Amino acid sequence: MREGLLEIFQEAYSQLRPASSLPEIKIEFFAFANINNTIRLRNGRLLVRLSDLLEGAPDAVLRAIAHILLAKMYRQPVDRGHAARYRRYVASREIVRQAHLVRQIRGRKRLRPARGRYYDLDAIFEELNTRFFHGLMARPRMSWSQTRTRRILGHYDPAHNAIIISRIFDHFAVPQYVVEYIVYHEMLHLKHPVKLKGSRRCVHSAEFQAEEKLFPHAARANTFLKTL
Ligand SMILES: [Zn+2]
Repeated sequence: MREGLLEIFQEAYSQLRPASSLPEIKIEFFAFANINNTIRLRNGRLLVRLSDLLEGAPDAVLRAIAHILLAKMYRQPVDRGHAARYRRYVASREIVRQAHLVRQIRGRKRLRPARGRYYDLDAIFEELNTRFFHGLMARPRMSWSQTRTRRILGHYDPAHNAIIISRIFDHFAVPQYVVEYIVYHEMLHLKHPVKLKGSRRCVHSAEFQAEEKLFPHAARANTFLKTL
C-alpha cells in the first residue's frame, strides 16, 4: 500500500464530514481495464478501489480523487479545483498512453493459445521454470499478442494473470534464446512485483536487473532485439 494514502482519504473525509467520526477505510489498487475508481460503503466500512494506473500519481492527484469519491459517496458537491486537477492528470500524455495499452491488453478477454506456429510458450515457460526457478513458479496463462507489436515485446497482465509475448517472435528467423529471454524477463516481473519508491513505480529494481543478467544469452539476445 502506498505510504500516506490512508491519511489522504481520512483527511478528505474529515473535511467533507467534520461532524461525523471516521469510519474504517480500506483502499486497494486494482487492475481495472480502464482508469476506474470505485467506492462502496459496507457494514460501516468504506471500501475504495483505485486504478493501478494511479499508483504512482502525485499526492495532489490522490487528494483530488479521494475528495471526488467521498463527495460522490455522500452526495456533496465536488470541489472544482480537485475535479480539474484529477481530470488534468488523467488526460496527461503518459497516463493516456498507459491506459491505452492496458485497455488493449486487459480489455480483451480472449487470449491466443500458448502454442504458436513456431514456438510453444507453455513449453518455454516450463523449461525456464526448471532451469532458473527450481520449477517453483506457477504458470500463468501464456499467450501470443493479437497484433505484431514491436513496441511492447512482452507484458505481464495481472488482470488476466497472463504473460503476453509479441507475436513478432513467433517466427522461424527468431532464435529460441530470444523468445526465452523475453519470457524470462516477464517471469522476473512475476517474481519481483512492482515496488513503489517514493511516488515512483520502480519496475526494474536492482535485484531484477541482477537476476536478468543470469540469463546466459542476455547480451546476444539484446543484440538481436536491436535489429528488430
Ligand atoms: Zn520489464
